[in-house]
Amino acid sequence: MSHQCEYCNKSYSTGFNLNKHQKKCKDKIIIEQRKMIEAFKGRSTSVTDGTTINADTINGNINVDQSVTINLVSYGEEDLSFLSQKLDLLLNNKNYKRITSNIFKLVHCSASIPSQNNVYKKYENGDKGLAYIDGEWVEENINELVDMGFDQGLNYVEDVFKRISYGALDGKTIPQKIRIHMLNLINKRRDERGDPPLIDWAENNRRDTSQADTKKEKKLIHQLAFRNRNVCKRTIKKINNQNAVLN
Ligand SMILES: [Zn+2]
Repeated sequence: MSHQCEYCNKSYSTGFNLNKHQKKCKDKIIIEQRKMIEAFKGRSTSVTDGTTINADTINGNINVDQSVTINLVSYGEEDLSFLSQKLDLLLNNKNYKRITSNIFKLVHCSASIPSQNNVYKKYENGDKGLAYIDGEWVEENINELVDMGFDQGLNYVEDVFKRISYGALDGKTIPQKIRIHMLNLINKRRDERGDPPLIDWAENNRRDTSQADTKKEKKLIHQLAFRNRNVCKRTIKKINNQNAVLN
């Protein structure tokens, strides 16, 4: 199966390699930039400093059906649509500054979604990481895996940010400081890569990436990945038992 970049049509042998490419794909950057400019054209840049979202109903329980077969998903190819149910949690006052690490936690470290327990750090120190990629567990440098997880989270943040830019998000108003934080995080990463900002808010003095601490987010993801080893090992054990029954 070949994995093609939807922006420049280059083909890659694995989804992992395609993901790596898309971090730098020039066509993707240009197309996204153009979309943002279109989205903002003719729209007021003023934002209502709206009501605060409370994270009261976070723990929506997902029933774990033991009889369901677990099929691991390749790292980086998860279906993130379930996160739309978690936006109250991700974008509340308490959590918004850790949005990418919280996304990593929800996507990869949840025992209730075993098919996505597909990445962990092997030892507390050192750089050994393991990820389930294209049908097998492979050893990769943990920094690279963390970068990928961070980018996955930030790509999601970017999608949400674009949705917000068209107005309220599912009828809710996202407070301005949270929107600014999201944009700063997106732009800081672009800056680190030498890419132009998604939107340059310099003209209204809103561009301040100093609060967007990408290093701190990555450090949190490192810690989550190490803690996730036990979750992943339990899932691997379940899959082994499952296969033993089938054989
Ligand atoms: Zn491309």
